[in-house]
Amino acid sequence: MDSMERVDIRSLTFGELTEQVRVMGLPAYRAGQIFQWLHGKQAVSFEDMTNLPEALRLQLKERYELVVLGKADVRVSSIDGTRKYLFALPDGNVIESVLMRYRHGNSVCISSQVGCRMGCRFCASTLDGLERNLRPSEMLEQVYRIIQDTGERVSNVVVMGSGEPLDNYDSLLRFIGLVTDGRGLGISQRNITVSTCGLVPQMHKLAEEKLQITLALSLHAADDDTRRQLMPVANRYPLREVLDACDIYFQKTGRRLTFEYSLVRGVNDSPADADALAGLLKGRHGHVNLIPVNPIRERNYVQSERKTVDAFKNHLEKNGINVTIRREMGRDIQGACGQLRRSYLTAPQRSV
Ligand code: SAH
Repeated sequence: MDSMERVDIRSLTFGELTEQVRVMGLPAYRAGQIFQWLHGKQAVSFEDMTNLPEALRLQLKERYELVVLGKADVRVSSIDGTRKYLFALPDGNVIESVLMRYRHGNSVCISSQVGCRMGCRFCASTLDGLERNLRPSEMLEQVYRIIQDTGERVSNVVVMGSGEPLDNYDSLLRFIGLVTDGRGLGISQRNITVSTCGLVPQMHKLAEEKLQITLALSLHAADDDTRRQLMPVANRYPLREVLDACDIYFQKTGRRLTFEYSLVRGVNDSPADADALAGLLKGRHGHVNLIPVNPIRERNYVQSERKTVDAFKNHLEKNGINVTIRREMGRDIQGACGQLRRSYLTAPQRSV
């Protein structure tokens, strides 16, 4: 695009919007009204903003881009009511988001990038590499469209969809600021989880922000050799450095971490692996989330057997580690990262 590219108004903080309103020579209360339309009422057009004068609505339309995601597909799990969305971005790219219904409330899992460049071997999102980062508005819109589509409230947001959130750091922080803003959804920081494959410098930077969000680390192995087999990023950051960054995150924020561990049959699920993991996490502040790996067509990784998963869990518990087995949501609707988008991209006919 050229210099005429319009400002993405839904990505502006309240402070920035206030400044824009001032520059336009408007009274300050207009910023509050516009922000309320963008983030409280989740408007899809400037015409919707009915308490603004017609001339102002037209002026906004000329000056700003209003990012709205299109619903390209939605699949509903008949097992647990999980809803998996495929959204179309303004440039025609598609991303996935998931609504999970728990007893404690609704949780939306959002994507942070189109594709991913981290290359984890078991993950479908990274097979074609990174297409581009998502803008804050595009991250917010995943939550907004799901709320509008279901008419239900959302209490939790997990940044665990496609992409590596810490590889899109500035947009992620802006997203967190906007989604927690009381003039919009006002979701509590404590109800936000960001999952990372372990980008150490960005983990340190995040610790300095002193947010109350939960940081989840994708661990997946208790030794560097195994971790490097599964996650190329482990070549850059050894476990010692990654776990140091976790410790510092806890020291600076007081927030316990989540350690994600996808169990892959014959790769990281032996009793010796459980021992090594217990040793690694002993005295650290967090709990382990065990996820039986979700097999993808392009790779031949296989899920651990149920009894192996249970044994792994017991082994950790005996060593004083807190463990949960993550309930698989939406098993029947390609719930795992990147699978729905991928089936769409590789389908012979595309209909969006
Ligand atoms: N890039 C971030 C967040 C996205 S993935 C990260 O790496 O944490 C969210 C979680 O799902 C990560 O723990 C990831 O390793 C895991 N995951 C990805 N594909 C999976 C699969 N096929 N089966 C099980 N877990 C998977």
